[in-house]
Amino acid sequence: MNHFTWKKRLSQLVIVMVMLTLFPLTGFAEENDINMDPPLTGFEQRDGETWTTHEEEIEFLEEVATLSDRVSYSQIGTTVEGRPLHLVRVGFPEPPSDEDIANGNNMLVIGTQHGNEGAPREMALKLLRDLAFTDDEERLELLQDATILFIPTANPDGREADTRSNAEGIDINREHLSLRTLEVQAIASVLDEFNPDITVDGHERPRASGNPDIEMLWPRNLNVDEQLRSLNQEMVEDHLLPEVEGYGFSTGLYGTPGGAGGGDERIMRNMLGLRNGLGLLTETAGLQEPNYRVDAQMRTVEGVLSFYYDRFEEITSAVSEAPERQASLGNEQNQPFYLDGADNWEPTNVIEKKPTGYLLTNVQVDAMEKHMNFFSLEKENVYSAGEYVTMSQPKMGVIPFLFDKRATYNEVEGIALYNSQNVGTATNMSLLVDHFANENAFTNTSDVRTLKMQLTAVDRFEKKEDTSKVNKHLNGLIDLLNYQSDNDLVSEDAAEDLMKYALFLKEKWLD
Ligand SMILES: [Zn+2]
Repeated sequence: MNHFTWKKRLSQLVIVMVMLTLFPLTGFAEENDINMDPPLTGFEQRDGETWTTHEEEIEFLEEVATLSDRVSYSQIGTTVEGRPLHLVRVGFPEPPSDEDIANGNNMLVIGTQHGNEGAPREMALKLLRDLAFTDDEERLELLQDATILFIPTANPDGREADTRSNAEGIDINREHLSLRTLEVQAIASVLDEFNPDITVDGHERPRASGNPDIEMLWPRNLNVDEQLRSLNQEMVEDHLLPEVEGYGFSTGLYGTPGGAGGGDERIMRNMLGLRNGLGLLTETAGLQEPNYRVDAQMRTVEGVLSFYYDRFEEITSAVSEAPERQASLGNEQNQPFYLDGADNWEPTNVIEKKPTGYLLTNVQVDAMEKHMNFFSLEKENVYSAGEYVTMSQPKMGVIPFLFDKRATYNEVEGIALYNSQNVGTATNMSLLVDHFANENAFTNTSDVRTLKMQLTAVDRFEKKEDTSKVNKHLNGLIDLLNYQSDNDLVSEDAAEDLMKYALFLKEKWLD
C-alpha cells in the first residue's frame, strides 16, 4: 500500500469516528453527504485566467484522494527536473488493487504530453474530480465495471516552462517506440501493466484560432488489428464528432494524409492501436478562450465514457481478443507488414512476406531491455549467443518497427528470419539462403549451391559439436560471402544479413 493510500485511510478513519459519534444509529451511507464541496482546480478558481500550477495540481490530487474513497494515486516516475509523474485511479466504490485493475477493465486519460498545450491537463483534473463526486448512475455503473486511470500531466517540466518538449528539449510524443525519455517510460509502464481498453491522448493546436474547435483521430497505422481500428473509427466518426457538435463545437479529423495525421509508429495515437487498445487523439484550437478549449476536451472525453458504457461488451471483447488475433496474424507469412502508410494513405514501404521473427545478438538484446519489458515482448534464448523474437505474439505490431533494418525508426537491426525451425543453426541459415534465392538476390544459382554446401559442412560439425571444425567451415563461409559480395554476385541486403548470421554462429561456437 502506498503512502497516499495510507494517508487516505487515516483520514477516512477520522471521518468514520466523527460520524459514529454524531450519528451512531443512522451511519454513513453516503460519503458525499458529508458537507464538503469538491475541491476546485487553480484554473477553475481563477475562472480560466491562468492554468493550474504544478503546486496546485499536487495539492488538488491530494485533496480529491483524501475526500473521495473512489480515488487513489501514486507516483509512476520523476522527470529530469525532479517533478513527479502521477497515475490517478478512479473506481467505485473504490479503485481496485493494481493487479485487479490490470486483470479487469480500465480506460486511461493522458493530459498534456506537450507542455504548451494546457487544456487537456485541465480536462483530466476536472474529470477525475467530477468522477470522484458524481451521483450520475450511468457513471457510477461504469466506474464499478471499469477503473478510469489518469496521467493528468504527462510532461510537467514542459508545462512549467510552457514548451512543447520536455526539459531535455525532446518532443516526447515522438518517442513511444524508442522509449528514450523518463516521461514516455512512465507512460509505457502504465500501458504495459494495465492494457487500457481505451486511451485518450489530449493535445492542442497552439497556433490554431479555431476552425474547427476540436479535431480528433484514431490510430491509423496499418498494422493495428482491423477489428479495433474499425471500432475506433466508428467511435470517432459516428459518436464523438456528432455528439461534440451537438454541444456547439465545430469538429474535424486531425492532420493530413502522410503527415501529422498519418501512421507514424512513434506517436502515442498509433502506438495505442499497436498495443491492442482503442485510442483517441484530441486537438483543441489553442488560440481560443481556455475555458472554451477545456469544455471541448471535456465534452469529447465524456463522449468516450458514454461510448465505453454503451458498448462495453463489444469494446472489452474486441480488446481482449486482439492480442490473440495479432499473434496469429504475425504467424501468417503471406500477409504483409506495413512499414509506412495509413488507413487513408497508400503505403510505399511494405514487407510483402512477413518475417517469422528477428534474431538479435546479446549486445542488441541488452540495448533493448526497456523495450522487451515495456512492450512485454516474448523472446527465446538462442544458444546463449542471442535471442529470437517471434512474430507470433500479441505485440507483433511493434516488432518490425523496432528490429527490422528496413523500418525508418528502428532501434537495432536484427536479422529478419523467414523460418522458425532450428533458429541459430547452420540449417536455419541455409533456409535464409533459400529465402534470398527466391527473392532473386543471387546472380548465379551456382553461388547459392556453394553457400549451401558450405553450410551443410558447418551443420555436420555443429551436430558433432566439433568446435574447431565448425569454426574452420564458418571461416570458409565468411570468405565465400566476402567474395560474392565483392564481385556483386549477391545483393547488398542479402550479403549483409547472411554475414551477420555467419558471425552469430561464430559467436555461438566461440572457443
Ligand atoms: Zn500536442
